[in-house]
Amino acid sequence: MNFESELSQGDFYIPECTECMKIVWPPSEFCNHCFGEVLLKKKVIEGKIIEFSRQGDAYFCLVEFEKEIRVMAKILKMPKIGQKVKISECGLINRNYFFHVV
Ligand SMILES: [Zn+2]
Repeated sequence: MNFESELSQGDFYIPECTECMKIVWPPSEFCNHCFGEVLLKKKVIEGKIIEFSRQGDAYFCLVEFEKEIRVMAKILKMPKIGQKVKISECGLINRNYFFHVV
């Protein structure tokens, strides 16, 4: 399993080291703590909004997953700090990750 190919199919997996069990972010083949092998063990859909800003008719928010991973995501309805959100869509555009949450 490859992080980017899973993501481009709409599945967000947490890259985790098989040696030290730490989350490896940004995703990499080898752990940035111990150089252990990284596997995609767990699929997540739910995160928490850390902050947001308005851009045009949508909002962009910083969403935290598993208390460690933070990504930028687009949300249509006005969000609240601390709000739980779910990934409705994710993928790759020009090799950049994108996330839509609801
Ligand atoms: Zn490790």
